[in-house]
Amino acid sequence: MTAREARERIEKLKKEIGHHRYLYHVLDRQEISDAALDSLKNELVKLERQFPELITHDSPSQRVGGAPLAMFTKVPHAVPMLSLEDAFSEEEMAEWEARMRKVHPRGDFEYFTELKIDGFAISLEYENGVLRRASTRGDGMVGEDVTENIKTIEAIPLSLSDFIFTAKNGKNRLTIEKNGKIMKILKERIITGNIEIRGEVYMTKKVFEGINREREMKGEPLYANPRNTAAGSIRQLDPKVAASRKLDFLAYTLVTDCGQTTHHEEHEIVRALGFKTDVFARECGELKDVFAFYEDIAKRRESLPYQIDGVVVSVNNNETFRRLGVVGKAPRGAVAFKFPAEEATTVVKDIVVQVGRTGALTPVAHVRPVPIGGTIVSHASLHNEDEIKRLDVRIGDTVIVKRAGDVIPKVVGVIKNLRTGKEKIFSLPKKCPVCGEAIVRPEGEVIARCVNKQCPAKNKEALYHFVAKPAFNIVGLGPKILDALSDVGLVSDPADIFSLEQGDLLPLERFAERSAEKLTVAIEKAKTITLAKFLYALGIIHVCEETARDLAEYFTTKGSVTSPADLLRIASEETPESLQEIPQIGEKVAQSIHAYFSDGYAKRLLQKLTEADIILHSPKPKKRAVPLVGMSFVLTGELTHLTRDEAKVLIREGGGTVQGSVSKKTGFVVAGAHPGSKYDTAKKLGVAILNEQEFLKLAGKQKHG
Ligand SMILES: [Zn+2]
Repeated sequence: MTAREARERIEKLKKEIGHHRYLYHVLDRQEISDAALDSLKNELVKLERQFPELITHDSPSQRVGGAPLAMFTKVPHAVPMLSLEDAFSEEEMAEWEARMRKVHPRGDFEYFTELKIDGFAISLEYENGVLRRASTRGDGMVGEDVTENIKTIEAIPLSLSDFIFTAKNGKNRLTIEKNGKIMKILKERIITGNIEIRGEVYMTKKVFEGINREREMKGEPLYANPRNTAAGSIRQLDPKVAASRKLDFLAYTLVTDCGQTTHHEEHEIVRALGFKTDVFARECGELKDVFAFYEDIAKRRESLPYQIDGVVVSVNNNETFRRLGVVGKAPRGAVAFKFPAEEATTVVKDIVVQVGRTGALTPVAHVRPVPIGGTIVSHASLHNEDEIKRLDVRIGDTVIVKRAGDVIPKVVGVIKNLRTGKEKIFSLPKKCPVCGEAIVRPEGEVIARCVNKQCPAKNKEALYHFVAKPAFNIVGLGPKILDALSDVGLVSDPADIFSLEQGDLLPLERFAERSAEKLTVAIEKAKTITLAKFLYALGIIHVCEETARDLAEYFTTKGSVTSPADLLRIASEETPESLQEIPQIGEKVAQSIHAYFSDGYAKRLLQKLTEADIILHSPKPKKRAVPLVGMSFVLTGELTHLTRDEAKVLIREGGGTVQGSVSKKTGFVVAGAHPGSKYDTAKKLGVAILNEQEFLKLAGKQKHG
């Protein structure tokens, strides 16, 4: 191959490699395989080795070229690299706008909003379209030359020559084209290829996690976050380290005057020049549009491939922006509208093991309540036994809790320097905390489970029943939410419901702040309940609402019942025989009630409910006349003035009891029209029979008509 042929081939290879780099790293598309692209790169390197005089600055082979540096040289910034003021609320944003309007009353206050990527600001200088220098912000006035490291970032073009600069119609009209397509028409200015562009170097979450996984395997300390890791990589003297870090780049500022009049146009021009720009960035007419953008991005935050910590809001009109000037080291015309902090430190009060509806055991840290991202967090997940060991979390430790988007807050670190020596090491119980059966953790699995099929934690129906209308009546706590709470380890038994806080609910799907608040209010309100409803809520087999009422009345005669613990104490003294003294309660029901209160699970549950401050109300003995006290009734046939249920209420309020069938012990049978077989039985047994009028008279409710 002659030198001329080599030069032509090299030029073509560079263009082709550059094209695929652009597709892959900027547009996120791929036309040829990695292997094919590597093969092209190999050919280029071989040719350049053969003809070293043909190596240029912008050759893809030069991305990881230079030897390690002894130090970075200083670079003065012709235009200072400013930082941004922060705002944390809509009020602060409104104040910002008011300040700007005061300084520049005739300004054009439309905005341009874009994501604030958590990375590292870099300035890129191109000469005749070729990357010559890349520098860090430094103190804003003087940065450091990190060109060799920046060249390793594939998202940054080494040459802008792929993007043709064509002057048309003389020097007053210039287009930026790519592949024959006009990307941007600029008037009155000429792009010479001497251009300065600024943007953010960052590391994707995926790359960051991959690096940490590798470090973990090698037993090396883990990196804290993608931002610091990216910054550290750029400030490495050996470019090979930076190259291994797979950094990325988003451009957001065009420093050189290319005729742009708005910040939006700057984005368009740098995109046309072959840079990746923020795809979410857009114009916002007024602050309320900015707020909508902020809300939208806040929701997407977790699912984005990179970390962001807010949105940048700039005055779109460059002339207005310029006239607003600089305050300290920040331009007045732009602000970083930050998201609330996601992490806070707090103290682990206890580690409690929850059993989910699949039997999976989840250790949950009960922490001193702490505001994170605008809500109070009091529980944080520890995932499993291995995670506790990995973090070395102990009861009493000061920990870092992170709350991010749609997952339950979790413990992400321990501040071991704050230990006093009194911290307690936690170990997973050997027995299920709900049913007391043995726990199984199969070899090679991280999740320990209760395998008892009868374990109450697996009985999700019991939870649904507990909060239902005739029971605790907690509006807004449906089966879907209960299932989700069980899955994340927040609710194993009904008592857990009462320790939920807004911060626990917010991460659950579709839990807007308002409904979470509503629900916590409903839960708080439900803590006071009648004894009858409470007994029904427990879901004791064969105890229907009516039986629960009878039981409540009976227990109240034995002593004052104001807490679940009172109930447990009184109920524990009963025997199946003594319970059968309650009218309407037969042998089967009595045995079921007795079995319930003898069970270890019920004892633990009632204790937990007492600790959750459940207050029981028993109907006080009525002061008004109780004309039917001591009398029992059986209803049959159709009544004209009362429904069957109204008649039952009348009997109960009058102090009497309602029976389902007629026996010798029955006091009265109330017979309406078309009475059934009960009427005949009553006659046969000699039980007194009342018609409706007589019954009403007896109950003190004589009706005429
Ligand atoms: Zn169990």
